[in-house]
Amino acid sequence: MLRLYGYARPYRLRFGAAVGAMALYGLASAGLLWLLQPIFDDLLIAEGMLRDNERFWQVAIAIQVFTVSKGAGAYLSAYLMTDVGQRVVRDLREGLFRHILDQSAGFFAHHTTGGLMSRMSNDILRIQQVVSETMGDLLRESITVLALAGLLIYIDARLALVMISCAPLFVYPLVRLGKRVRRTTHRSQEALEELSHVTAEAFTGHRIVKAFSAEAFEAQRFGRLSQAVYRITMKVASTLSVLPPLMEWIGSLGLVGVIWYGSVRIGSGAMTTGDFMAFGGALMAMYQPIKRLSRVNANMQQARAASERVFDVMDTNSEVRERPDAQPISTLRSGITFRDVSFAYNDGDRSEVLNGISFYVPAGCVAAIVGLSGAGKSTLVNLVPRFYDVTGGAILLDGVDIRDVTLGSLRASIGIVTQETILFDDTVAHNIAYASPDADRAAIEAAARAAHAHEFIEQLPKGYGTLIGERGQRLSGGQRQRLAIARALLRNAPILILDEATSSLDAESELLVQDALARLFEDRTSFVIAHRLSTVRRADAIIVVDNGRVVEIGRHEELLAKPDSHYGRLYAKQLFDRSAETAPTTSGTVVA
Ligand code: ADP
Repeated sequence: MLRLYGYARPYRLRFGAAVGAMALYGLASAGLLWLLQPIFDDLLIAEGMLRDNERFWQVAIAIQVFTVSKGAGAYLSAYLMTDVGQRVVRDLREGLFRHILDQSAGFFAHHTTGGLMSRMSNDILRIQQVVSETMGDLLRESITVLALAGLLIYIDARLALVMISCAPLFVYPLVRLGKRVRRTTHRSQEALEELSHVTAEAFTGHRIVKAFSAEAFEAQRFGRLSQAVYRITMKVASTLSVLPPLMEWIGSLGLVGVIWYGSVRIGSGAMTTGDFMAFGGALMAMYQPIKRLSRVNANMQQARAASERVFDVMDTNSEVRERPDAQPISTLRSGITFRDVSFAYNDGDRSEVLNGISFYVPAGCVAAIVGLSGAGKSTLVNLVPRFYDVTGGAILLDGVDIRDVTLGSLRASIGIVTQETILFDDTVAHNIAYASPDADRAAIEAAARAAHAHEFIEQLPKGYGTLIGERGQRLSGGQRQRLAIARALLRNAPILILDEATSSLDAESELLVQDALARLFEDRTSFVIAHRLSTVRRADAIIVVDNGRVVEIGRHEELLAKPDSHYGRLYAKQLFDRSAETAPTTSGTVVA
């Protein structure tokens, strides 16, 4: 909770003003009750009805002053506290979003998208409720209770002290129940997270759900979780609802005591009726704030549970971090070196997925990476943009370890086209310019033309302004790929990582995509996870990966000519898609 207050530090002036307004509210509330004494003793009882005109006007004006002050205090404190609360939550939300985005790929492998979204929404919402409402309640009602307690002491110190010494009666059940609320809230937020995860998975995978007629299964899974959320929420609710009646009952015991004691004191003349009315009034006026305060603790426990979950994510540091003395790079002059690279995913067993990988790709060359599924091809290329860091050895760009380069400049010099093209629900133009926000229309069009995408884009209902739907659902596979290629062309990064699509495109798309790719390879240093014969033939070198090791490096003909080569076996197994065998080859050498 202290850490949460840390977020409020920048707004301490506003916060201070809010507390000032609360003090005004509390004092004015107590002042109003204090007036009961002169009303009874001076105006109603002593002199008969309204005989003392001057006293009447004094009291009337005092009532107005206190009421208006109380109202102003209530308004200002509510407004300012909400403002501070919302600012804190805004900062926290933005910080969390940025922090999550900065995490390495390993983090995302261990957290579900739905789960993270739940932390962003459900947990932040809980914190928001507490910071803006409960914190305000806590301060305002505490100040009011203190002011009223002051009034009690002023009127009859002995009786007031007896009443105050009963306070533990109120506090004990509050603390007990608060602990329970925190535990149940933890569980309910976890259940919400799981619910959000199942929802996200079912919706994003809706095709598969339908194709396998798994709607009933998913609905059942959802129903079970939903029921769990309901049960846990009701547990919290029952705890929360028991508090006010409990407090009221304890309070009524006190009232009985006060009436008895008051009648004795008035009888002996030690107390006037007005004193008693003001005392009783102040005591009853404490009921409302105490009732609210009783909920404050429970709500705080809810926020504590939620913030523990948020800070839990905030405290996960990305394993991929920038060194403080990192330098930016801009171009690639000589080439890329893998020097004895090994890698293990940070999973319990730590078995190495890559082992002793060494090779050198000169600038401007195309390196095709081939191997069976699971050999480690994707892992290998993911190390270049530092989605993960190597666990042994090093990757060097022009002889500089990529860990000594700023993350921003490293990734800016790498263009990536993935097998499953990632497009956003935005216009065609914005998707192409996603990584190059400064590009003008002419540049976007040029990139689209080079990627053979211009023709089909022109035929879309709104051309470059057409919205393509979430993940580009309104486009065909070949069209999506060409958009992704246009994006990479526009980005114009010196290094290219390409995961070739395995899904076969129709013959025409295939040719267009191949031709677009050929342009993408020009003047770039490329790593291609190759699934097509045309690509491996065109490559300057084929890096054959098997079981996490590089087993062969060479050109297509060389490797095929070798007796009993690994590559020859892959080729014989028809591992490559031979649909487009006509592709130009580029020159250059890649050496082991
Ligand atoms: P390829 O791209 O050649 O099919 P990958 O590089 O995807 O192979 O995978 C190589 C090995 O690493 C596989 O055994 C796979 O199970 C494992 N692997 C891939 N991604 C992860 C991950 N995020 N966490 C743990 N293991 C992984």
